[in-house]
Amino acid sequence: MPPIIAGKNRRKVRFLSKPPPSSSTSNQNQPGVSRPTPSSSSSGKMTSQAPRPGIPVLFTQPPPIRDPLVTETVDLQDATLDKCLPFLKGIQSSQQGPFNACGVPALQRDDHVVYLFDSLEDYPPSFVILDASRPWMAYWGLAGLFLMGEDPTRFRERLISTLRPAQNSTGGFGGGRGQISHLAGSYAAVLALAIVGGEDAYSLIDRQSMWQWLGRLKQPDGGFRVCEGGEEDVRGAYCVMTIISLLDLPVELPPDSPARNAGLHKLTDGLAQYLSRCQTYEGGISGSPGVEAHGAYAYCALACLALIGPPEETIPRQVQHMNLPLLVNWLSARQYAPEGGFSGRTNKLVDGCYSHWVGGCWPLLQSALDGKPQGKGPPATTVGSLFSREGLARYILGCCQSHNGGLRDKPGKHADSYHTCYVLAGLSAMQHYHYRTDSSATTSEHFASAFSWRSTPIREGNVYEKSDRLEPLHPLYGIPYPRADEMRLWCEARPIAP
Ligand SMILES: [Zn+2]
Repeated sequence: MPPIIAGKNRRKVRFLSKPPPSSSTSNQNQPGVSRPTPSSSSSGKMTSQAPRPGIPVLFTQPPPIRDPLVTETVDLQDATLDKCLPFLKGIQSSQQGPFNACGVPALQRDDHVVYLFDSLEDYPPSFVILDASRPWMAYWGLAGLFLMGEDPTRFRERLISTLRPAQNSTGGFGGGRGQISHLAGSYAAVLALAIVGGEDAYSLIDRQSMWQWLGRLKQPDGGFRVCEGGEEDVRGAYCVMTIISLLDLPVELPPDSPARNAGLHKLTDGLAQYLSRCQTYEGGISGSPGVEAHGAYAYCALACLALIGPPEETIPRQVQHMNLPLLVNWLSARQYAPEGGFSGRTNKLVDGCYSHWVGGCWPLLQSALDGKPQGKGPPATTVGSLFSREGLARYILGCCQSHNGGLRDKPGKHADSYHTCYVLAGLSAMQHYHYRTDSSATTSEHFASAFSWRSTPIREGNVYEKSDRLEPLHPLYGIPYPRADEMRLWCEARPIAP
């Protein structure tokens, strides 16, 4: 039965049963087809309209400097600007108001909540590929609902019945029944269970076999494979540190871990050094040593370092891990104007999901730069905001809200669970100041820093309305702050012997 929200029966999914037709502008995205500048393009009629009052010119005009060399990349960027500018100016006919004095549209809260509830219902046959992503669909929906102020604990029993058959007796969760264990699915499953909380959810996880399985994924170079026989990358490292810290699994490698043959003794051995080798010449962080820097891998690597220990100790180069000035330089270059949102890589397009992957890096870097926490409240002095919170708010609220609910990559794209969750997570991260304190929920010697974070809403200089403020997520785990502490403490009371 569909759930009942606000007294109304919810219909089942509202997803398209087949891929959407090509947009009318698709020819503009063809490689090698040169285009005029955005301001004089065929859609220039729309972009030349005056913007709503209250919007700085930075967010209503194409950049003043253009690359004279016409390439596929330049064409795609111009096409994206053409699509975004009417939304940024608040003059796109499909945008819903009301618009505030800063020219920013309101968060369509009710529509997004309905979309998220629908996303946890049945799917049509054409979505069969999502059968391998059941833990993810649960996590995205539940985290999104929490961000919007809904109570996700009502899904506890359904979540447990969904995830029980996805857990393997050899440790870890697959994407669904009968599928091999994978770190991505296991990460999402643990987070989803943490969000709904409660003894029934926690006790579903076979922590002993999870630990044994993680030991088999540890590699001699310090990193982790994402599944047995699978690829090794920083996603694996971040997922393992998330899982062992929330579940209080032993840091020691299991006795039968193959990595012991390489002289390693702990799951954390060589890990920070492995992540350090993933920083590229640009300053960003790649999925594995020697490949291109990418925003989502940057978040995984930085969050992994901030899980291992205090970010002011584990992230900066002084401790041999990251070249911080170069990293800040690369991350800063991810935020574009006039769009205001983030891209994932150099010369790529703005995309709403990087509001989380890149936006989520900033609190971690800010904590590293603010230094050792001094007390239980926010530090007296900090480096301040490292990115344009206004720009991100304008991109998310202006460009990422789908007319029918849910959030998206950019105008012209359809909403989906993944983007809805991570665009909202980025909006929340932008609305709060996350900082570390000198006290932790755990007294354990391991991961104490991870449980010492707190947050406070940013009240000055906002371009969105108070009613559009979202709940804060833990900057390392992407779940409610109290739920992280509760899962950790429940597990600490039931230790697993190494
Ligand atoms: Zn995206």
